[in-house]
Amino acid sequence: LFITLEGPDGSGKSTVIKLLSTWLKEKNVEFITTREPGGTNIGEDIRKIILDKKNNSMSPQTEALLYAAARSQHVSEKILPALKEGKVVICERFVLSSLAYQGIGRDLGIDEVKKINDFATMGIEPDLILFFNVNPRYSLKRKTIRHGGDRLEKEGENFHQKVYEGYLKLLKIYPKNVKVIDATSTLEEVFYEVKESMKNILKG
Ligand code: C5P
Repeated sequence: LFITLEGPDGSGKSTVIKLLSTWLKEKNVEFITTREPGGTNIGEDIRKIILDKKNNSMSPQTEALLYAAARSQHVSEKILPALKEGKVVICERFVLSSLAYQGIGRDLGIDEVKKINDFATMGIEPDLILFFNVNPRYSLKRKTIRHGGDRLEKEGENFHQKVYEGYLKLLKIYPKNVKVIDATSTLEEVFYEVKESMKNILKG
């Protein structure tokens, strides 16, 4: 089973993954958790290039290709082998992030970004996408306090708003396997929703 967590910056994905890990361990489920951009040595190096402040002149195409390159390594080195071993793979961000951030946020076009990602992922798709639904106007406040400065931090509220609206649009185009979680509620409520979705898919 391949499960991804998607949503705007600061929507609580990382926090929920930590809780989910503890819960899955208690249930003796074999799983791995991983994240994008990164998840492998090559991917983490690519992540540094993407986020480095000195790379301010990076073109949107370069950015999209770097994300796709990191993802390709991630799929072949980590995700596919774990799935073959029968493990549940829980991944923070996947192709939907690129469609929203690069396809819509950076105006590259959904179809173009999807094409390079189909190549990168060899067509694998999540069995379940948990979408953390919160307007970045609220969620970004949490994030800025936590992270400090990387290249993407300079993106203003408008960019994140555009990405968020992009996500909502994408959810209409690709409704497959998506569970929308109201990420404005308390962590307890959010985690409860996530667990219910997990229980359903683990049963099936
Ligand atoms: O999810 P995480 O906080 O690790 O992402 C790091 C940065 O990369 C964030 O600022 C996020 O907005 C950005 N990002 C992006 N395009 C993607 C995925 C993440 O611009 N496809």
